[in-house]
Amino acid sequence: MPIPISIPIQAREFLMIPGPTPVPDAVLEAIARHPIGHRSAEFSKVVEDVTANLKWLGQTESDVAVLTASGTGGMEAAISNTVSPGDKVLSLVCGVFGERWAKIAEAFGAQVERLKVAPGTAIGADSLEEKLQSGSYAAVTITHNETSTGVINDLQKLVAVCKKHNVLSIVDAVTSFGAVPLPIDEWGVDVLVTGSQKALMLPPGLGIIFFGERAWAAKANCKSHSFYFDLAKYRKSTKENSTPFTPNVSLFCGLQASLKMIKDEGAESIAARHHRLRKTLRAGLEAMGLQLFVDESCASPTITAIKPPEGITVDAIRKSLKGQYRITVADGQEELKGQIFRIGHMGYVSDRDILMTLACLEATLTQLGYHTEPGKAMQAAAQLLAAR
Ligand SMILES: *Cc1c(COP(=O)(O)O)cnc(C)c1O
Repeated sequence: MPIPISIPIQAREFLMIPGPTPVPDAVLEAIARHPIGHRSAEFSKVVEDVTANLKWLGQTESDVAVLTASGTGGMEAAISNTVSPGDKVLSLVCGVFGERWAKIAEAFGAQVERLKVAPGTAIGADSLEEKLQSGSYAAVTITHNETSTGVINDLQKLVAVCKKHNVLSIVDAVTSFGAVPLPIDEWGVDVLVTGSQKALMLPPGLGIIFFGERAWAAKANCKSHSFYFDLAKYRKSTKENSTPFTPNVSLFCGLQASLKMIKDEGAESIAARHHRLRKTLRAGLEAMGLQLFVDESCASPTITAIKPPEGITVDAIRKSLKGQYRITVADGQEELKGQIFRIGHMGYVSDRDILMTLACLEATLTQLGYHTEPGKAMQAAAQLLAAR
């Protein structure tokens, strides 16, 4: 006789959003430990480890600073340490986060020009080339992976154009760093920003900034003011395996643990995994007859945007997935709100998670009245996974 269950089992919360992302147990355990003194020898070891492993992951000799801030704090530090009032800045905008760079630069008094493309498309290196030929800019801001639309830009090409014209490249790699190969020095990225709650598998709260030689040269002439985000303070402290102010000790310890996991899996395996997650998810979604928002050629390996089927709202899909399966997917942002829904697949995400999401989405859509042959998505995804 089966025992009657009176309390329904609560499925584990599942975040298929572009941050915060799932956090591995080893990282949670590191964060849960009692804080240690930030001027202790133990903590110096943590800073030493974290600094070395971040540089390893970015394949760089650039300085790196871990700021107690969200990713946007890192973006502000990037601007306030390099851009002076009146400077001409070119912002490459293909979504909400590209626009954020422009707004931050404007907040620091820069004369910002936007190179804008339609949502769902990428910035072309040719149009950047044209711009840099016709005008003189102090800096170009670039969003590597535009989280609001699910587009990945060809960063290597874009940075090469900046370098050719001797313009500082300031890059938001918040949803790409740690998921895709990003050799900072080889590509010539001057400033690169990332955050803890995306591919680095941590809760929110840390902003990470890589600051190269050309960026230091720009800082020497920079007339903007900063105190907490003055990167010279971080450079000096990091050299002594320390931090200028009380850092988020717990998240720092978590970062040490997550970087160890990343090192153990290997940067190439991680990149291959994200590539596979994208491919499997897209194949499943298309087999279900859904329309993807972004063409394969610039589709992000960390986030996928989907148009809702005719007659079914994004709101209904999100509510049903959350209510029945405790899976959270994201709405579109700003003018794309209600137009697309977004599935994040960055960091601590496996093939299983994609299969599960596809299956639950299929069940949800069927329930909401969408006509699809059940099992189609699974079949497509399973075939891909079997063939790898
Ligand atoms: C999440 C994100 C950020 C940082 O946002 P915060 O909320 O400040 O952490 C910046 N850029 C992109 C592309 C992002 O996805």
